[in-house]
Order: sequence, then structure tokens, then C-alpha cells
Amino acid sequence: MSAIEELTTELAKLPGIGRKTATRLTYHLLKQPAEAVTRLARSIEAVAERVRPCTTCGNLDEADPCPICTDGRRDGSVICVVEEASDIGAIERCGEFRGRYHVLGGRLSPLDGVGPEDLRIAALAARVGDGTAVREVILATNPSMEGEVTATYVRGVLEPRGVRVTRIALGLPMGGELEYADGVTIARALAARREMGEG
Ligand SMILES: [Zn+2]
Repeated sequence: MSAIEELTTELAKLPGIGRKTATRLTYHLLKQPAEAVTRLARSIEAVAERVRPCTTCGNLDEADPCPICTDGRRDGSVICVVEEASDIGAIERCGEFRGRYHVLGGRLSPLDGVGPEDLRIAALAARVGDGTAVREVILATNPSMEGEVTATYVRGVLEPRGVRVTRIALGLPMGGELEYADGVTIARALAARREMGEG
């Protein structure tokens, strides 16, 4: 495979990028000064080498524990549960949440073979413990069918531990992704969170 074909193939593996866009990107890069392309290659290398999931919350950072877990000004008694580390950035941008996070690493999806043991649910239960140090867990999984199923499952695991479990308000459009919601929408969804009912 030629270098051009190889790069196009790699780019085409990225989400939302088809073969056509990958080809366009490759030829765009070929027109750039060599140092600009090298800088891009180095920054990809740097994230691959230095960024790791935080062993406490699953956030992606160069430090472990991550800066959110070590920030003493944040309220460790409130944990916001999200599907992916990228959701943390979306919630942080709204500037309304001062607790800590827990990244599940996905959502329950029987069709794709993703079960509870594939997500960081046991680690969350361990963090919550007997519910004395954590007073509230906010479930901020996506407003999709799978996100709902995941939230219901996690609630079932946590509730016997005596911790308050809330769900962000679904003012977010159903099927939408938290990651792409604007700050105002996320702030509103957080503020209007409610106790999870039966089922
Ligand atoms: Zn962390």
C-alpha cells in the first residue's frame, strides 16, 4: 500500500469520515508545509502515549488521579455518571456542576454484546460504598433508549446502598447526545434533575 493509500485508509476509520472525506483530508495535508503535518502527527502521538484513564473516575488525562478528582474545591459527595469521558467536557462547559464524575465507558447494549460487566459499574458501586461519603449520584447517561436502560440498571445497583440517585431532566432531545448539547441545555437538565421513579 502506498503512503497516500495508507493514510487515507487510517483516516477513513475515524467516526463520521468516509472514504471520500478521508481522501480529501489526505490531499489537504499533502499541500501543507511539512512542519505543520509533523506537528499534527506529534500531537496524535502525544495523546496516544501520555493520556490515560483516571483510575478513580475514568476521565482521560495525563495525570492519574485526574485534576477533577484531586481538586479539593470540588464536592466529592456528588458524583455525576456519564457514558464517555468526552461527556465530562460538555458538562464542565456549562459551569454549573462542582461535584466529581464517573465514566462508565459506554452504555448497556445487549445487541452489541455490551453487558454490565463491560462497563465501570462495579467500580462506581465501590466508590459509593455504603453511601456515607457520597450523598448523591446523578445519572447523566444520554437521552437514548440505551442510555435510559443503563440509568435504570445503575440505579438498581446503587439504591440498596442508601445513596440518593437522580436522573438529569430529559429536556435534552430524545436520542440526542449530551456531548453535543449546549451549555444552557445541560445546565437546565442538571438543575431539573429528579429522583428516579420505579421502572
Ligand atoms: Zn478522575
